[in-house]
This record gives sequence, C-alpha cells and structure tokens, in this order.
Amino acid sequence: MLNSLVYSRLYDWYEKNHRVLPWRETTDGYAIWLSEIILQQTRVAQGMEYYLRFIDRWPTVEDLARANEEEVLREWQGLGYYSRARNLHKAAQIIAGRGKDQGESIFPRTFEALQALPGVGEYTAGAIASFAYNQPYPAMDGNVYRVVARLMDIDEPFDTTAGKKLFRREIEELLDRNNPRLFNSAIMEFGALYCTPVLGEACASCPMKDICLGYAHGTAELLPVRKPRPKVRDRWLDYHVYVQGSLYTLIQRRENPKDIWYHLYEFPCEERSEKPEEKENLKTVHLVHILSHQRIHARFFVHPVETLPAIEGTKVIRWEDLNDYALSRLTLRAIESLCV
Ligand code: SF4
Repeated sequence: MLNSLVYSRLYDWYEKNHRVLPWRETTDGYAIWLSEIILQQTRVAQGMEYYLRFIDRWPTVEDLARANEEEVLREWQGLGYYSRARNLHKAAQIIAGRGKDQGESIFPRTFEALQALPGVGEYTAGAIASFAYNQPYPAMDGNVYRVVARLMDIDEPFDTTAGKKLFRREIEELLDRNNPRLFNSAIMEFGALYCTPVLGEACASCPMKDICLGYAHGTAELLPVRKPRPKVRDRWLDYHVYVQGSLYTLIQRRENPKDIWYHLYEFPCEERSEKPEEKENLKTVHLVHILSHQRIHARFFVHPVETLPAIEGTKVIRWEDLNDYALSRLTLRAIESLCV
C-alpha cells in the first residue's frame, strides 16, 4: 500500500471532519495522559465531562498527587473500571515524588518511561509520546485496529499475542514518521467517526475506497476479528440497607484488591454462591448489573430499624452524606431506586 496515498486521503478527511477536543488542542503530557486514561473504555461524550472536572480540580500532576485516593475515586464515580483511577493517582504520586528530588516535576517524555507508569500500557504510552511530543510511536486503540484490519484485509484476531504483533508491524510500517501526531489523531478519528463497526453506506463514498483491500474483497464488514470472548460469570449479591429514621445508614468499603470495586463503598453485602430463594417480606430492589466478565444479580433489602446493628467493618453515616463517598455504579443505581 502506498503510504503517501493513505496520508493525503486521511489528512484531507481529518482536516474537514475532526472534532475539536480539548486534549487534542494541547501538548501538555499530563493533560493528554489524563484524557487517555479517562477515555479507556469510555465514550468521548461521557469522558469529556470527567476530563474537564479533573483538569479544573487538579490542573497539574502535583495537584493530583496531593489529592487523597478517596477524593480521586469520588471524582471518578460513574466511570467504572476504578483501577484506572487508582493507577492514575499512584502514577501522579510517583511523578511528583521524583519531581521533589529534581526540584520540579517533569512529566515522563520517553515511551519507556511512560510505559513504566502504573496503568500505562503500550497504547497509552504511544498516544502520549505522539500527541504530546510528536514521537514516532503508533497509538493502537480499537478504532485503529479496525481501520488497519479493513484497509489491509487482515483476518487474524487483533487481541491475541500473535495478532497484536502482526498489527503492530503493519501499523509501524504505515505510520507517518514525519508527523506521528497528525497520523495517529487522523486514523483514530477516522475509525471513530467514519470507518465505524457498522459501515452502512460509508464505503461507497469513502475517500480510501480505491486503496482499501477489505472493501475490494467484500470483507470489510467482517473485520476486525476478535478472539472468542470469555464466558460471563453470574454472581448473586444481597445488600442490606439499614435505615434509622431516614437519617442514618451503614456502609462498608470493599477491601479485596483482586475483586471488583476495590476501595469503593457500598451497603453491607453478602455474596451467595448460587441463585437465592426470593424473600418477599422486606422492601426489596432487584437490579442486574453487567460488567465486562460478570453479571451481578443484586438484591437490596431495606431494613427500617430503631438502632443500627453492629456489623464489623461498617461505618455509620448520615443518609444525606452518602454522596461524599466513592460508591459503585450499582450502589448509585440502587439509591436512585430506593428513594428512602
Ligand atoms: S472503504 Fe469502507 S472499510 Fe475501507 S476504509 Fe473506507 S469505510 Fe473503512
């Protein structure tokens, strides 16, 4: 494939169609890193609100490092995948800690130093290196895998070790080393807005249709290929919402670092090993909550009480202060439905 043809078509399309996004208007490594972590597994429309809040509250990496983990989790609430927030905070502390020794915090500038930060993998390191410093690294997100798979008609699953290597080789050959920032921005945006999972009529008027092998071979819609997804596991969680005079309740923090929602708060919880019998004698809210590999079947039992029970690991808080704690999305949904 003639790279120069791809560049001219892609850049021309990008010039006319790209969205104005605050993290694409800056070369500040911290701001770009923040946006990339927020945007992992998150749509731009939702991520924007979080990005603006974070950058407003913690404009520099030192500010973020000075926050406590609970404040960061609280600000992250609703985005899910909370390990991203914990790693973000941990990485900020590492960078600011080095800064103290050096007299000022210097945001890492090499691919290797970026990739050494907690929560920064190959994709994120490549994105920061290219967007902030215009260094020649690909930023291979799902959109880029899709565009490359279609342009080159690659039917190898992109999420296996062998597939990742193959795609990386291809994209490194395609990368515009004279302008990696523009190339990565353009190909990601093209995948996000034009060469989308469902193509509809897009190919017929695509600026790259005459050089797209997937289009020529009629395989574009089937690409990219993924490896089979792991089975989703069902879990049954019973929550006990103790309410003392509509004023006080009990919450507890999840303390297992290997389980979901580590360090987030929720109502006292019991996990069942199998689907439980229905209990009809209490006010109950049933919710099904889908995570990437788990389907949570949750029941929230409301117990109006005169005195809150003493349950190890819980704390008593005012009901109106619930929002001061970093709560899982499931707990937030339950609170909305409970209207205690
Ligand atoms: S022709 Fe279709 S599949 Fe190929 S790059 Fe364009 S939109 Fe994507």
